Amino acid sequence: MPELPEVETIARGLAHAVTGRSIASVVIRLPKMAQAPPGVDFARALPGERIVGVGRRAKYVLVELASGRRLVTSLRMTGRLVVQRPGEPDFPGTHVVLHFTDGSRLSFADLRTFGRMRLVEPDDAWDKSLGPEPLSSGFTPEAFIGMLSGRTTRIKALLLDQQRIAGIGNIYACEALWKAGIKPGRPAMSLSKPAIRRLHHAIVDVLTRAIEMRGTSVDDYVDAEGLRGGFQSALAVYGKLGQPCERCGSPIVRTVIAQRGTWWCRTCQR
Ligand SMILES: [Zn+2]
Repeated sequence: MPELPEVETIARGLAHAVTGRSIASVVIRLPKMAQAPPGVDFARALPGERIVGVGRRAKYVLVELASGRRLVTSLRMTGRLVVQRPGEPDFPGTHVVLHFTDGSRLSFADLRTFGRMRLVEPDDAWDKSLGPEPLSSGFTPEAFIGMLSGRTTRIKALLLDQQRIAGIGNIYACEALWKAGIKPGRPAMSLSKPAIRRLHHAIVDVLTRAIEMRGTSVDDYVDAEGLRGGFQSALAVYGKLGQPCERCGSPIVRTVIAQRGTWWCRTCQR
């Protein structure tokens, strides 16, 4: 499932490919994949709109429209946003197609159909339940200390909670905890301030490096151009059961926290 670095990479690729294009028509083959506010018809609302940019919030791709509306897309497990040239055959599992006036098109494909593309009005506070962006200036070590204060939740589960911090999923939670030397099962409130500062630094570092390497392809993730990411070669613990910890040599173990597989080192994560 794409996390912050993968969605950021996809959004950057799309921004390059579709900014400035105007929507001529919309085809919806599976209605649940394209959602609009009550009283708004998704397919009729979009023709005439021009794309002014593509961005990201948490794990969502945001296609910004000239009217101030935006398309908020959740890719979930297998969703893809693919730009196609005129005459190019449909991508497998395509459910929503935005046809542009120049003959090209943006296809929203998803073999497992868990993804959603949502049309959001300019005044809609659609992201109000999402926590801060971990790479934003507002996510300071002090803010993170405040966030963890009094929380009995295990630190790994807290990192995955999108209402606390937005965009971190299983891969980067495991990697950041390893880098900071923190045991994933510890209650958040039990972490010392120096440990929280280490974890803050680790989160920012791991996400920044993963964006530089265009995300992690441990499953079928590819970017907007269909290219695999490169951060899988830099993973320290995720998916590495039994392999030696690169810091202390102990074998990496796997436990389950918040129903998710959690890879970590029993020796150097305390
Ligand atoms: Zn270790």
